[in-house]
Amino acid sequence: MSARDFLRQDLLNWENYQVQPIRGRKMDANESPFALPQAVRQELADWLLNEEDFNIYPDTDNTVLREAISAYYGFGMDWITVGVGSDQLIDLLCKAFLEPGECIVVQSPSFSMYQTSAEINHGRAVSVPLLAEADFRFSADDIIEMVNKEKPKLLFICSPNNPTGCGIEKKDLIRILEAAHCVVVLDEAYGEFASSDTLDLICEWPDLISLRTFSKAFGLAGLRVGYALAHPDMIKAIDTVRAPYNLNTFTQKAAALVLGRPEYKERIGWIIRERERVQEALAVLEGVQGFHLFPSQSNFLFLRSDVESLGAKLLEKGLLVRAYGGAMASYIRVSISDKDSNDLFLQAIKEIILA
Ligand code: PMP
Repeated sequence: MSARDFLRQDLLNWENYQVQPIRGRKMDANESPFALPQAVRQELADWLLNEEDFNIYPDTDNTVLREAISAYYGFGMDWITVGVGSDQLIDLLCKAFLEPGECIVVQSPSFSMYQTSAEINHGRAVSVPLLAEADFRFSADDIIEMVNKEKPKLLFICSPNNPTGCGIEKKDLIRILEAAHCVVVLDEAYGEFASSDTLDLICEWPDLISLRTFSKAFGLAGLRVGYALAHPDMIKAIDTVRAPYNLNTFTQKAAALVLGRPEYKERIGWIIRERERVQEALAVLEGVQGFHLFPSQSNFLFLRSDVESLGAKLLEKGLLVRAYGGAMASYIRVSISDKDSNDLFLQAIKEIILA
């Protein structure tokens, strides 16, 4: 007998999320180009030297971190739960809400972990296509139609959307909330880089969850911290399936320290300006070899071109971007990184497209 003999039938040919090996300049995962501020580094070092108590389990309620999030947003502690990245919260939502065979509604293309988590938890995903011709803008009508037809437990809306960069308009979100009879998960992993603010909607709509992360604007991808803001009943539902001690002591401490530090406002502003600079510099390529740059409200850019294997060609020049297969083979997504990497990207893509 082997493991395969015992494995769930539906997992025998199942593909988990693929992570590509690190090569060259890393512009493939929308991480922050900024290191931990020196003051936070020092505070963590002092804490490690003088107070560290890793011999005991972490605080299972993540109190210090939830207090910091509460102070940052002005929400009560019972409106907040935290996960090992927002990835874990996506999984917990599927665990808590999906009966076997039930569905979630997602957009396509969008972040693939929604479907992955639904399937791992015995559910399935149904997708509403976003149209390339319309710059991948959300269609509230299409989403409402699909939700009415499929009657999902969960509707995931990624705004700004990964990988397309477009955000949903607040009035469209309100229309969806009015029409949808399901839990609406607004994944705002890149929300800090966008202009719209949806926090007030959480107080008004008990079925709405805002998922956020420390991995992007706050530069803590390596520590894996995400959080959910929602009505206390919703938070209780998520916590029902959250494993004890899900976040380790070090991560709780570090994440609590970065939140609210003044550096981050400046850093987010810099990334937005840098995105605009790269967007402007790419405008000369528009239409050449089918090149099109999609609008972005995020810390990455999404583009298409008729050049074959654009991702591989950029990698030959030392730049690792996110390339896709199948129907998405002519698209790439590239993170806004440090200035040097962004300049190298601009030079490389111009050489390739204009060749
Ligand atoms: N949501 C979206 C849209 C993402 O792009 C990502 C990371 N790529 C996540 C959630 C997960 O973020 P994390 O688990 O690092 O918090």
